[in-house]
Amino acid sequence: MHALKRRRAIDKEKNCMIIPVRCFTCGKLIGDRWEEFARRIRTGENASDILDSLGIKRYCCRRMILSNVEIIDEILRFYEEAEKRREARNLY
Ligand SMILES: [Zn+2]
Repeated sequence: MHALKRRRAIDKEKNCMIIPVRCFTCGKLIGDRWEEFARRIRTGENASDILDSLGIKRYCCRRMILSNVEIIDEILRFYEEAEKRREARNLY
């Protein structure tokens, strides 16, 4: 429980989502480009231009970033609920 809360706090602080570190297909390092991509997308910049300027040329790598969905907070909620139920069961 504490570990999960700490993890969640860290993720929010750094605005860090969980994106794969490397491209599944070619193995190029892409995890370090995510934060800049996400930041520039929020400013309304064109996704294709951002990927070009980040040096992500192959379409296997581009799909890694374009198709990433930030769902870690949704998943953690299920773990926290399961932990609460486990604790409640231990009281009886
Ligand atoms: Zn690739």
